[in-house]
Amino acid sequence: MPTQPPTPPPTLPTLRFDNGFAATMPRDPRTDLAPRQVKGALYSLVQPTPVSQPTLLGWSKDVAASLDLPSLADDVISAASTLAAVFSGNQLLPGMVPLATRYGGHQFGNWAGQLGDGRAMSLGEVVTSSGNRLELQLKGAGPTPYSRRADGRAVLRSSLREFVCSEAMHHLGIPTTRALSLVTTGDEVVRDMLYDGRPAAEPGAIVCRVAPTFVRFGHFEMLAADGDAASMRTLLRWTIATHMPTLSADVNDAAAVLAFFAEVAARTAALVVQWQRVGFVHGVMNTDNLSILGLTIDYGPYGFLEPFDPGWTPNTTDAGRARFRFGNQVGIAHWNLACLAEALLLLAPDPAPFGVVLDTFAVDVTRQLRDMQLAKLGLSWRDDDDDVLVVDLHTLLASVETDFTLWYRGLADVMAADDHTVLRSSYYRPADADVVAADTTSWLGRYRARCASDGVNGDERRRQMNAVNPLYVPRNWLAQEAIDAATAGDLEPLRRWTTVLRTPYTVQADAEHFADKRPEWARHKAGCSMLSCSS
Ligand code: AMP
Ligand code: MG
Repeated sequence: MPTQPPTPPPTLPTLRFDNGFAATMPRDPRTDLAPRQVKGALYSLVQPTPVSQPTLLGWSKDVAASLDLPSLADDVISAASTLAAVFSGNQLLPGMVPLATRYGGHQFGNWAGQLGDGRAMSLGEVVTSSGNRLELQLKGAGPTPYSRRADGRAVLRSSLREFVCSEAMHHLGIPTTRALSLVTTGDEVVRDMLYDGRPAAEPGAIVCRVAPTFVRFGHFEMLAADGDAASMRTLLRWTIATHMPTLSADVNDAAAVLAFFAEVAARTAALVVQWQRVGFVHGVMNTDNLSILGLTIDYGPYGFLEPFDPGWTPNTTDAGRARFRFGNQVGIAHWNLACLAEALLLLAPDPAPFGVVLDTFAVDVTRQLRDMQLAKLGLSWRDDDDDVLVVDLHTLLASVETDFTLWYRGLADVMAADDHTVLRSSYYRPADADVVAADTTSWLGRYRARCASDGVNGDERRRQMNAVNPLYVPRNWLAQEAIDAATAGDLEPLRRWTTVLRTPYTVQADAEHFADKRPEWARHKAGCSMLSCSS
């Protein structure tokens, strides 16, 4: 009888760790997980709390490749279980030093004191074969000294949303933390999803996220609140030397502190302009959720604009004042940068040059927004008339429920076909196409005239527009479909969707569903249009 070759035992991945943050920053002397106020330290050593049955639901081949990890064919179950053990925190690899960092932050406009990694823990910094430094961080792997009264866990719905959107943002060309894996834990987690006094058990999950560093504005603010200039110098020197090596790391020199601040401001400006381009609303732009590298970080109650509405926020927790609404994200970025500036005054006490950087931010971001708005129309800014064209367009789009994503894709086709009926599918109420017909014709007339004076032919303009206006964005109702299917054990919608989101600007066969505007059933459904911070 022919014998089957024995299945080789699953081998653990090998990764080279060089844990610079842990080696450099002041460490909390206590190693227990009891919630506490930590003084004089930037991190605490922790251990993941084991989970009962880790199962790999999602694996990003792209991120795996960047870490020299296997791409993992879907049928390699033995490898999947090994990877699930590692990326749930059940099994540590040699070189991993799990830690939770200490940061503070301004939440909804108020100083909140110490926050910290309450359910995130870093496993270490990997140095890849190509020399990149990438930190691995588990979200949901159990309590840390920063968990306060919460459980250190995360639920499947929020973890799947983070896993999908991190990767989608990357493929949209937007700076972001990445997501390597999505693992369900086999344990239940109790959450009051809508904060309405009805807590329920949900499946627990853990995402392994990946970024050069997860340092936030709030790390600097925490040290400023402590009055701990020495630790702030250590953090700043390491951040610059490791992650912004073209800048001076001589942090005793006020000019170096300012140059760092100007760099963070420039990255933050570029980031929020990209968010506005694709209609991404972060939902919780507290200073503890802003990355010092200008990455999108902490995917919570985020959303993508469906009807164009500058006042929209997906976060029901913020519905009253809508502080973090689409139209306010640039202003909030500026406000958050002012908080960071105030923290850095500990090292460079003259506020005037920080004010200059903040003013420069305001000017630069306005220019970048203008250029981006024109690029969405396939144009380069020429004069004030272009600003009027954009303002009038926004008024038109907001006048009835118009899908932001589909309208811009439609516009590229209108220009090619000289026929604006293609815009009909972007209105949430079909009758609205007639309501706005006259205004649309009038605006398109001005737009056509502007294009005609530009010398770019229709096909080329269409190509340019479709390269900045995505067709597939991770809409919340699609996330909910993938969550419902995954909860019922069907991973196919998640797999199919994540594949489509890898090329968001290119029309793909059999993918119409993933470009659809929100269906009526999702209009008021939790998870689709109502999200909270409960996750
Ligand atoms: P967020 O609103 O997600 O940015 O979280 C704000 C703070 O609350 C951070 O310090 C988080 O680590 C902490 N936090 C959020 N959820 C949990 C949880 N389930 N367990 C422990 N800490 C949490
Ligand atoms: Mg956060």
